[in-house]
Amino acid sequence: MIIVMKRYEAKDKVEQIIEKLKKAGMQPVPLFGVERTVIAVIGDERILDIQQLASMDGVEKVMPVLKPYKFVSRESHPENSIIDVAGVRIGGKKAIVMAGPCSVEDEQQIVETANSVKEAGASILRGGAFKPRTGPYDFQGLKEEGLKLLAKARDATGLPVVTEVMQPKYITMVAKYADMLQVGARNMQNYDLLRDLGRCKKPVLLKRGMSSTYKELLLAAEYIVANGNPNVVLCERGIRTFVAETRNTLDLNMVPLVKELSHLPIIVDPSHGTGIRSLVGSMAKAGIAAGADGLMVEVHPRPDKAKSDADQTISLAHFKTLMQELRAVTQAVGREL
Ligand code: PEP
Ligand code: MN
Repeated sequence: MIIVMKRYEAKDKVEQIIEKLKKAGMQPVPLFGVERTVIAVIGDERILDIQQLASMDGVEKVMPVLKPYKFVSRESHPENSIIDVAGVRIGGKKAIVMAGPCSVEDEQQIVETANSVKEAGASILRGGAFKPRTGPYDFQGLKEEGLKLLAKARDATGLPVVTEVMQPKYITMVAKYADMLQVGARNMQNYDLLRDLGRCKKPVLLKRGMSSTYKELLLAAEYIVANGNPNVVLCERGIRTFVAETRNTLDLNMVPLVKELSHLPIIVDPSHGTGIRSLVGSMAKAGIAAGADGLMVEVHPRPDKAKSDADQTISLAHFKTLMQELRAVTQAVGREL
């Protein structure tokens, strides 16, 4: 970190800051110039309160040189991380497709979907049991009954399951049935949830908040990893923009840029990213072309009858065709499906 003092600032102000930095365990090196003093600070600056330092008397600006996240940054871990979800490896050469309905509705629906997406080449079954719905009168999910149905579908197919957890008090329950816990966009900054997921060792799928920056997403991931759980996969699922024609704007810039900043795997969700069934295939392919480690796609045996997110849900047959089309794209970018 570099601290730039105001021009012609008195030496005693510089000394006060040096004292403070030493107390915090840092090694400050003052460089006295003709007009101003600059203090180079050696040590892990992430433990310092940068805003407080910047507001100290005599300080003009504080320039951190390290990213505010540590465990998830590529600086600290240059190789890509591979996250193991009950034997399915995310972040390696194979692009991993998670598919299934937005909500688990009944046994027949989830088992039929699981069998079909497995046959088409999906590696993980998705399905919501606890649903974060915009309106309180919308279908809220089957809760524990839904988790039991997901476990049945896993037993029938061998596919690991991913499902959302919305509150810290349900982590133990959801982890009993699921192989991977999803943090939804609306909960990306629920810090109590993130902290408790750090103490749970199950892999976490962390979806980007709909108005979050990359830095906020990576800091959310840092909460989980810093609390003891390194198994985090990030997900781009679209953000709110001025574009009214789609539900969200799928921000594919995130994939290559966050890959530069972090070693964590990233998947793309073209279903929530577009909100429109006919666009899902194109954006799924674009996601893989951009370097994503996988996809999450909403699929239902009768999409028009889906109890949530029907407009963006594709049929079993559509999913099958999409998987065939994806093979060429994965190959073109040096990956497998
Ligand atoms: C979902 O996956 O069904 C979901 C609610 O996603 P998001 O949190 O991205 O809106
Ligand atoms: Mn959904």
